[in-house]
Amino acid sequence: MSKLALLGGEPAVPRAGRQVSWPVVTDADRKAVTAVLDSEKLVSNAEGEAAVRELEGRWAERVGTAHCVGVSNGTAALALILGGLGIGPGDEVIVPALSFIGSALAPLHQMAVPVFAEIDPVTFNLDPADVARRVTARTAGILPVHLHGLPAEMDAVAEIARRHGLAVIEDAAQAHGATYRGRVTGSLGDAGAFSLQMTKNLPTCGEGGLITTDDAALAARLRRARQFGEVIEPGRPRDYVSHDLGWNAKLNPVQAGFAASQLDRFDDYERRRQANMAPFLRRLRQLPGIAVPQAPPHAQHVWHILRFRFDAAAMGLSGTTPEALRTALRRVLRAEGVPLSQYQLMPLPEQRVFTERQGFGAGYPWAARTGEGSPAAAPYPVTRAVISDSLTLQKRHLHPDAGPLLQRYADAFAKVWENLDTVGAMAKAAA
Ligand SMILES: *Cc1c(COP(=O)(O)O)cnc(C)c1O
Repeated sequence: MSKLALLGGEPAVPRAGRQVSWPVVTDADRKAVTAVLDSEKLVSNAEGEAAVRELEGRWAERVGTAHCVGVSNGTAALALILGGLGIGPGDEVIVPALSFIGSALAPLHQMAVPVFAEIDPVTFNLDPADVARRVTARTAGILPVHLHGLPAEMDAVAEIARRHGLAVIEDAAQAHGATYRGRVTGSLGDAGAFSLQMTKNLPTCGEGGLITTDDAALAARLRRARQFGEVIEPGRPRDYVSHDLGWNAKLNPVQAGFAASQLDRFDDYERRRQANMAPFLRRLRQLPGIAVPQAPPHAQHVWHILRFRFDAAAMGLSGTTPEALRTALRRVLRAEGVPLSQYQLMPLPEQRVFTERQGFGAGYPWAARTGEGSPAAAPYPVTRAVISDSLTLQKRHLHPDAGPLLQRYADAFAKVWENLDTVGAMAKAAA
């Protein structure tokens, strides 16, 4: 049995090669950026601008929708979709209690109220039964998040939406290219929102977003909404007239050019990521007490984030709490060179913006409706349990050459699992 690095032993993951960068930036990306700079079309509404249009066309084709609209980021994508679908003050939008904050801020940006639903303890996605329970006369939409790269249970979501006449807005910011019953995320609801933020599976050099939809009228409203409500048409001079409430939420052409260059390699990277992930997860699955991320047979996971749940009893440990065990495992595994971290410290409804209703002042938009109390009053026990007993791997495994590093991570887990007595004692002392 080898000595834990935390106690002075040799780390399982050698220091050299631990740092893996994402996104991968190649000469092709540099050329793509330079080409846009040389074009002198540096905003998407410039006459003859091509980079944003090209990326939109290619992404619509990749997803399988009739339209794609480039916007400034993923949060703006969600907010613009909600506005474009007519969702606004007094409306409720059902969002999962576990997600990135952007999923829940987007309804607020339209003066709509996010109503949080529980997640499934295995997939970490919206629990459709809980969604159904939270539908009220004010519900206007459901915003499923394909969390960590796994598509949400979209058939069940679509069925609830159909029954109550609700819009379905996909948050696909973590799930570029993932499939559900053979269809690609972003083509499964009324519209899909993607982020191109540099940590995502399809990254740009900074921030960006893409919206996919089959609805031509919605796409036209979104193009106006990103451009101050103006209609911009090729060959017609800009008239500076707003037709609807608009924002300035355009995608920058330099960033579109970079993302298009990344898209050239996207499917290759995704194939290699799948190949790297399978043997890594297989090894972890052999260790008792770790729930390893998985996908149901009808969905493909694209592994944006890897979330592992830990079960003290199944690990043969007692007298501890999930939080104390999580903290001990995090310390011990980080010392071995595995960069585990928490993704989300609390259920979204517990964030102060929601508990203290820090919206548009005077309690708005919550005050725009009557009815039941703060959604934060509900306990969200599943979401809380998942956050309490899990740790995540982010970013490094996205690299197409991360296979050997993942094997060293698996070595580290195996080593720690040989030393569970020590981990248990640490956790017990802290509990
Ligand atoms: C990243 C992310 C967003 C927001 O995207 P930005 O481009 O950062 O605004 C929204 N939802 C989820 C699930 C995300 O991971």
